[in-house]
Amino acid sequence: MTRFCKRLLAALLGAALLGGAALGAPTPVPLAPLTTGESAGQTLPTERPLATQQPDATPQAEPAPARPQSVAPATPVPSPTPDTPAQTPYPTPTPRAEASPSAQASATPAPDDPFARLPADMPTVPPLATREPGRLTGVKIGIDPGHQAHANSEREAVAPGSSEMKAKVSSGTYGRFTGVPEYEVNLDISLQLRAALEELGCEVYMTRESNEVDISNQERAIMMNELDVDLVLRIHCNGSSNESAQGIGLYIRKTGANADECLRAAEALLPAMVEATGAESDGIFRRDSYTGLNWSEVPSILVEMGFMTNEEEDHNLNDPAYQALLVQGMVEGVCAYMGR
Ligand SMILES: [Zn+2]
Repeated sequence: MTRFCKRLLAALLGAALLGGAALGAPTPVPLAPLTTGESAGQTLPTERPLATQQPDATPQAEPAPARPQSVAPATPVPSPTPDTPAQTPYPTPTPRAEASPSAQASATPAPDDPFARLPADMPTVPPLATREPGRLTGVKIGIDPGHQAHANSEREAVAPGSSEMKAKVSSGTYGRFTGVPEYEVNLDISLQLRAALEELGCEVYMTRESNEVDISNQERAIMMNELDVDLVLRIHCNGSSNESAQGIGLYIRKTGANADECLRAAEALLPAMVEATGAESDGIFRRDSYTGLNWSEVPSILVEMGFMTNEEEDHNLNDPAYQALLVQGMVEGVCAYMGR
């Protein structure tokens, strides 16, 4: 194609572009490369139609005009939140299905209009609402995945100064339908919870990262006291002789210096978990019978994520998709409690 022909084609297509712009088509972003190109009319009109026809592999697909097409989308688009560019690697552009009604209207003109596809090519800015880096910066959370591979029946005081003794660690329950032991599910979900919290800048401490440990409930509580965390989540699954028992239940201490603070945390956590998972709420229980809660000098919640004796919940608790919802609910609950 001669240079003159190119210019003529460019001029014609340029006129078409102006017509589209006059109709209010949202073209500013795709036009950006023009400022670095040689002239407005030469690159844009030819490269866009070529891109959509690429599978045809016509001789038209000269390497030269195709190049800016592959470079342009990779260049970072200015983010409206300039403080977080590094944390949001540029995503693959998503369809503008959620664009404003006016943008959608202008995105569906005549199908043979080569610029009809432009809005679909436009990148969208990813939502930052719940993945905002730094949302939990400065927050310290303790996670205690309940139980361990082998119970320890040696005894320890149920509370500081108490003469009542309980086993150091019980064996926990197990999935009546999946056969999976509770301690495995607890650790699985706890590790996912840690990752999700850390992604938001949270400082996370675990009482255990393996099932092959021997740490008593008293030791777990003291470990978190010494770390002076803002909140401890003790991750458990429930069990009942009643197969229909179900739902998420939170257990906190009834008395003690931080009992009211524990209640405040539980009241933030429970609705967030129920909303995220769609599970039933079993409620908030205030008890002074749990060693791990009684020895805790920091706000501490025993989270019963569901009943492994209930068929649906046993399967849910072992389903990665549902586990992710539980994690999401706990993260949102922590954020709500911490006012983040
Ligand atoms: Zn348990």
